[in-house]
Amino acid sequence: MKIKKITFALLTAVIFLTSCNAKSINSAAEPKKKELFAMDTYVTFQVYGQNSDKVLEQAENEIKRLEDIWSTTKPNSEIYAVNHSGGKSVVLSNETAELINFALEISKDTNGALDISLYPVLKEWGFTTDKYSVPDNERLTQLLKNTGFERINLNGNEICLPKEMQIDLGAVGKGYAGDLICEKISNEGVSSALVNLGGNVQTVGTKPDGSNWKISVTSPYGDGSFATVELADEAIVTSGGYERYFVGDDGKTYHHILDPDTGKPADSGLISVSIIGKEGRLCDALSTALFVSGLKKAEDLWRKRSDFDMILVTDKGKIYITEGIENRFSLAQSHKNLDVSVIRK
Ligand code: AMP
Ligand code: MG
Repeated sequence: MKIKKITFALLTAVIFLTSCNAKSINSAAEPKKKELFAMDTYVTFQVYGQNSDKVLEQAENEIKRLEDIWSTTKPNSEIYAVNHSGGKSVVLSNETAELINFALEISKDTNGALDISLYPVLKEWGFTTDKYSVPDNERLTQLLKNTGFERINLNGNEICLPKEMQIDLGAVGKGYAGDLICEKISNEGVSSALVNLGGNVQTVGTKPDGSNWKISVTSPYGDGSFATVELADEAIVTSGGYERYFVGDDGKTYHHILDPDTGKPADSGLISVSIIGKEGRLCDALSTALFVSGLKKAEDLWRKRSDFDMILVTDKGKIYITEGIENRFSLAQSHKNLDVSVIRK
């Protein structure tokens, strides 16, 4: 079986673009950088201005702290405690309760396209261990009996799951971690920084010269980036089947974003969903959920809410962007032939 993770390529694409821009503006305004591996992905922090060493250290400590409480595999994590509680209540920290509460809200808003209770199904496919296999329908039906976000009981900081249920915050944790880290960075008086958690890019302020950050959007076809989008004090988060997948013995490709109704890789007609907005957690939750929901429902939700924009790529090679980013979106020179439509209110 073949597996592929292109998170690193994604990360380097973004770093390259931003560092080139920074250099051409003012060589005196070089950022301080820190690169590390956390939350199962490559992480880069890039901070401008005085105080950057201290700020970078705080950012690193914060991501490690959050990884420790949200990990599904570390025995001391809060999520591990919840998943091994045998149906008993567990008291969560404020951050964890806040994140789960938020994920449940988005689950409701997307008719269950986002569901943090799919963990046992993800394990069965091998997406948690990289030991992949295709479960049969009977096994999936059995596992799906114990999923369902509606049955997660969260009351303030106290959570109680049905006995056989297990959760994972893989679809939302990095976005919220980005928010908490950006908040820490801003609180230190920094007005220009970039946080990249495996392709989830979150910006603090603008570039040091006051212009927007120009962030590249990875092509789902594995040929670099297909576009750039300009951001300031915003996040862009992308979900795509190409980010983690395997090819089964039957020759078919199976990716890591599951449709909660079937327990199988979502097949909505979208192959990449990027969400742009002020809140990383919203961008992260919606990029996963709308990948499952598909174009029509994504459009409907965008019309209903007014707190995000999106870039959607369909399996027919068509690109849809929402009007809020129309003037900040550019196709890369190498992808000028792509067909882009603007979704309007
Ligand atoms: P993301 O990369 O943010 O789209 O999140 C994908 C990760 O979320 C997967 O690797 C799984 O751990 C988990 N996941 C997969 N499908 C879903 C889903 N429908 N709802 C919630 N989490 C999911
Ligand atoms: Mg997500």
